[in-house]
Amino acid sequence: MTWQQKIDDALTARRSADALRRRHAVVQGAGRWLSAGDRQYLNFSSNDYLGLSHHPQIICAWQQGAERFGVGSGGSGHVSGYSVAHQALEEELAQWLGYSRALLFISGFAANQAVIAALMAKDDRIVADRLSHASLLEAASLSPAQLRRFTHNNPEHLSRLLVAPTSGQQLVVTEGVFSMDGDSAPLVEIQRTAQQHRAWLLVDDAHGIGVTGDEGRGSCWQQQVKPELLVVTFGKGFGVSGAAILCSDSVAEYLLQFARHLIYSTSMPPAQAQALRAALAVIRSDEGRQRREKLASLIEHFRAGVDTTAFALAPSHSAIQPLIVGDNARALQLAETLRSQGCWASAIRPPTVPAGTARLRLTLTQAHEKQDIDRLLEVLHGAV
Ligand SMILES: *Cc1c(COP(=O)(O)O)cnc(C)c1O
Repeated sequence: MTWQQKIDDALTARRSADALRRRHAVVQGAGRWLSAGDRQYLNFSSNDYLGLSHHPQIICAWQQGAERFGVGSGGSGHVSGYSVAHQALEEELAQWLGYSRALLFISGFAANQAVIAALMAKDDRIVADRLSHASLLEAASLSPAQLRRFTHNNPEHLSRLLVAPTSGQQLVVTEGVFSMDGDSAPLVEIQRTAQQHRAWLLVDDAHGIGVTGDEGRGSCWQQQVKPELLVVTFGKGFGVSGAAILCSDSVAEYLLQFARHLIYSTSMPPAQAQALRAALAVIRSDEGRQRREKLASLIEHFRAGVDTTAFALAPSHSAIQPLIVGDNARALQLAETLRSQGCWASAIRPPTVPAGTARLRLTLTQAHEKQDIDRLLEVLHGAV
């Protein structure tokens, strides 16, 4: 087989399974509206749950940060790229979430890769929820450690996998709010199970941080669980991008020595760290609470309005409201119909989700108004 054949075959297989992924160049993609070409759509596919991507104070913090620090950090944090802005953000995050330390990463993907690569060795075992994000499962399968997957949100199955003898350390991996399903992990039971087997727990709370819990402290705070490793990301509720790992002093020192994604990569721009500090201030404030409350009422308005004889609602009370339709072509067709009626939503298909569970992944944001949800419901019900 030639290179050309190898590539053509892979593309043909994707295309014939209605699984070809495409990008759309948008003019604006976060917040209430998505504009693409010369059209504007109601946006039901961004992760900007609190509508912070266009927040004037956060934009201003980024602009002023750029004027003060320049647009780039100039290097890895281990050389000259760790600024007082990064340091201040790390301290604020650690204090907010009740950890000794926070370490910043340029993305959640990098943070997950880094922590698993740095901590897990050949005799170790990773036991991950089957529906964990690709960045976690990919890191785990690249790792020399053994990977076992437990049935989604099932602590009993987790326990059965942890009980198998091992000579190394065990790491349990799950998410706070699941990215494609919107449901929450039973973190209390999962942590108890992990502790019974002296395993550490890593919770990736990409979709919970900022959005749930008192002061937006996320799923772990809400369930009163403190995992050894907490990953939070800033591309969703924070409306920006980047990530942090919250951990103990000694784990932070260890990661500074051994996390290659930190050592050999340019740190985020200091101006971005300033924008994140401004986003954190909004999230913690009364305004943040009001934004979360408005989002919660929009979510319940949507769920109450769905005709459940036509669509199966998922057990999700988060901003992620998937409508699982099963078939790839049907999911694509539904997304297409919505789009032609001015509502932008994504069809999510395998391998992003398990085979036979293609879905319309609808996301709501605080930037929506009630009439936007009503319009979505009207278009959805017209599409069956
Ligand atoms: C989005 C997401 C990530 C990746 O974070 P980025 O900052 O976008 O790289 C990691 N984990 C989960 C659960 C996510 O949803």
